[in-house]
Amino acid sequence: MDCLFCKMVDREIEPDIVYEDEQVLAFNDIDPKAPTHILIVPKKHIATLNDIEEVDLALIGRLQFTAAKLAKQLGFADNGYRVVMNCNEDGGQSVYHIHMHLMGGRHFTWPAG
Ligand code: C5P
Repeated sequence: MDCLFCKMVDREIEPDIVYEDEQVLAFNDIDPKAPTHILIVPKKHIATLNDIEEVDLALIGRLQFTAAKLAKQLGFADNGYRVVMNCNEDGGQSVYHIHMHLMGGRHFTWPAG
């Protein structure tokens, strides 16, 4: 399967890793949109949010749990941060392996663009 994030999980491509466990890989985004911009990726290939199945529910919770854990470790949990998951073309998804953006270290406006 020609999937960029699967290649990172398999270390065919070496990301700048900030966290890893059996189910999740987190690494710095190559084109950061905030002082901290981390992508949190399930090791299991799931193409879009629409492809999540009931068996994946704990895994999706782990993405969010990892985001909060990293935000606390990195020191911006109390100030606040933004987590985003983009789905398909209108949602702005460019890599078709689901990932949570964790962005912190600045103030974010709402609504998102
Ligand atoms: O939500 P979306 O699919 O657009 O996010 C993909 C993210 O993957 C982008 O923020 C992009 O900068 C990042 N990326 C990366 N390393 C690559 C290619 C893309 O961190 N080699």
